[in-house]
Amino acid sequence: MPFACKRCLQICPTAVFNVHETKMVRMEETDKYEAGTYRLRVAFRDKCSACMRCVEVCPENALTVIPASAVAS
Ligand code: SF4
Repeated sequence: MPFACKRCLQICPTAVFNVHETKMVRMEETDKYEAGTYRLRVAFRDKCSACMRCVEVCPENALTVIPASAVAS
């Protein structure tokens, strides 16, 4: 994910996501515009209310939310 985007993090009312760095080189500044340098992580899946705001705001259509009710057996 591009580090400069983070729209999903900003719009999520329950702060489900966080971002972590996937490439770290000692004594070098990470290029936040390089693809694949940062990864979005669903840190608090149980906090998701399936409001779909993150899906609507993503310019890359990179997110899919499957409500728990649709997954339940
Ligand atoms: S669908 Fe879930 S993860 Fe996405 S903005 Fe709403 S609460 Fe947050």
